[in-house]
Amino acid sequence: MNSSTNPIIGISANILTIDTGCLLGRERVFIGQDYIRAIMQAGGIPLILPILDCDESTIRQLDLVDGLLLSGGGDVDPNLYGQEPHQLLEATYLQRDLYEMTLLRHANMKKIPVLGICRGLQIMNVSFGGDLYQDLKEHDQIALQHRQKSQLYQESHLVDVQKGSILERICQSDSIRTNSLHHQAIKNLGKGLNVSGRSRDGIIEAIEKIDHPFMLGVQWHPELMVEVSPQACALFQALINASKKGKQS
Ligand code: MN
Repeated sequence: MNSSTNPIIGISANILTIDTGCLLGRERVFIGQDYIRAIMQAGGIPLILPILDCDESTIRQLDLVDGLLLSGGGDVDPNLYGQEPHQLLEATYLQRDLYEMTLLRHANMKKIPVLGICRGLQIMNVSFGGDLYQDLKEHDQIALQHRQKSQLYQESHLVDVQKGSILERICQSDSIRTNSLHHQAIKNLGKGLNVSGRSRDGIIEAIEKIDHPFMLGVQWHPELMVEVSPQACALFQALINASKKGKQS
């Protein structure tokens, strides 16, 4: 395989604190292997991006990639969107939030293609001035199961796709059946973002940035569904295609 034209996709990483054995308490950089597999399968070259606390270095990291994937993870710090911590807020990690917000700000300016997954959609919204439900129990109209109890790759609720959106073009359909593994969701939309998908109980499940060739966030986890869903594969394929285009220009 000639991989010289395959775009490099940076994946924002998590921190995992080892909770057993002789490495107890040590921190490790980690990312689910599913993200790596999904990007490789779509023809991209994955590159794990560890959390940095220096903006200048983060910008240099970004110079190395053709596209960006913001991976899933813990809750976003509510102070970043002007709220006090709700009782049902789960663990947050401010360093990662700030790092990813820097990545997003510069990917936006440099028109680098971005796919945000789950938390990736949430930090995208907060980054552009939006806010979140810290837990879906805050939302009184919530009717569906958004944290599924079945296998993670299994399809769960429907997402209705906005006509004319990039998501519609990618999925070639007016609805998608997705998995659902979140307890937070978008409340008010950030500036310059459009809703491109909603669940039937009205939760925002997909967003797109206006004035950017490809900045897309999805509330579900397509990386866990690539074996069972052509629409999940299509999302990664779209990121790779957009990143190839950026590479040429
Ligand atoms: Mn959902």
